[in-house]
Amino acid sequence: MSKTIWSVDEHLADILGAVRPLEPIELQLHDAQGCVLVEDVIVQIALPPFDNSSMDGYAVRVADVEGADEEFPAVLTVIGDIAAGSDGLPGDRSVGPGEAARIMTGAPLPAGAEAVIPVEWTDGGTGGGPADTMRAHRAAPEGAGGEVRVHRPVEARAHVRARGSDVKPGDLALRAGSVIGPPQIGLLAAIGRSTVKVRPRPRVVVISTGSELVQPGEELTGGRIYDSNSFALTAAARDAGAIAYRVGAVTDDADTLRATIEDQLIRADIVVTTGGVSVGAYDVVKEALSSVGDEDEPGSGIDFRKLAMQPGKPQGFGWIGPEHTPLLALPGNPVSSYVSFELFVRPAIRALMGLQDVNRPTVRAKLNTDKALTSPSGRRQFLRGTYDAEAGTVTPVGGSGSHLIAALAQADALIVLPEDVISAEPGADTEVILLR
Ligand code: AMP
Ligand code: MG
Repeated sequence: MSKTIWSVDEHLADILGAVRPLEPIELQLHDAQGCVLVEDVIVQIALPPFDNSSMDGYAVRVADVEGADEEFPAVLTVIGDIAAGSDGLPGDRSVGPGEAARIMTGAPLPAGAEAVIPVEWTDGGTGGGPADTMRAHRAAPEGAGGEVRVHRPVEARAHVRARGSDVKPGDLALRAGSVIGPPQIGLLAAIGRSTVKVRPRPRVVVISTGSELVQPGEELTGGRIYDSNSFALTAAARDAGAIAYRVGAVTDDADTLRATIEDQLIRADIVVTTGGVSVGAYDVVKEALSSVGDEDEPGSGIDFRKLAMQPGKPQGFGWIGPEHTPLLALPGNPVSSYVSFELFVRPAIRALMGLQDVNRPTVRAKLNTDKALTSPSGRRQFLRGTYDAEAGTVTPVGGSGSHLIAALAQADALIVLPEDVISAEPGADTEVILLR
């Protein structure tokens, strides 16, 4: 039996208390983006895997360039070229006294060499003639046979990136619980991992209801409106980290809706509906969901409740189908459904992903308005606003009407007026939920 009225926090706690993180799976790196790692990733190789040059230049022996300067350069014989990807000098040759090897960034330091002289510290390798690298290069394609004049001394290991200086075998690359972002994907690839064990992205099915709804692109005839909720919520689900499937609008017919939901359960970790949850004659979601799923299973079924909030008073939450898929039934007004998504569905998606931080960040800001805002007593109000971090202010956009889609599109924050507030004065210190 449902309580008469639920607070926002009670409803959210009820949802989060019931949602368990999804079972981990092994995913390709690019599919794991945004997911939570469930294994400690241990490094198997050294990074870099070999000593290599951090500059384009010449690999030399330190003693050969000691005391070199512009006036008295060290003149070395260039015995070969080492490009990135080559595994040293041809014929396993090493750099001997009086010798240098031309080396590219990332190429392995050849045997015998102790440091790299950047090309800027040299005459560029002249092949013994005038200072013209291109000519020298043409004359000696392998870089061999010519000479290079070095104008500065160098310390041992200078411009050499040591094997294992980044990570070594046995190091912990990433801890279980890490969120896989672009740099983490980079590290995994760098150490040779092609897959990782993570909690998958939840699959969210978004279904809007309403016989008045027309798909964008189609003709709008009398009494009808475009379906915006299914688009907004599919996008919001994706933004939250989910794989989102937009089913689109179902007419206000309980059998059709029931059949649609049952069809969709196969690909859903969570189902979101909009509309049809209030007390109107055609409130189809309520009607349809009283009998969806396995009635023999205790705890299955959707609880329709009233929340102490505005917008978003009517909400449904429960479980359907053999897999006990969570279903959130959101109200139909576009602003109500979006605010409800932000407050309840987004945290549920993030809990399914195994993320610790399921809520949007909040800040405090001064209310930037000419006249006081009014708020219904006993209900937490969520107004749309724009947040100015520099000024520390939040400015309401549009009114409190839950049909105002244009104002919602301008907003980047929700202004929260608590249950006990009936009026908020200009300049009042206010809680703000940041939407971006
Ligand atoms: P309902 O909760 O189904 O009574 O819908 C409340 C209001 O929201 C009505 O004015 C509906 O026309 C509107 N509405 C419901 N679903 C959508 C939707 N998917 N897109 C845009 N408006 C909607
Ligand atoms: Mg409706």
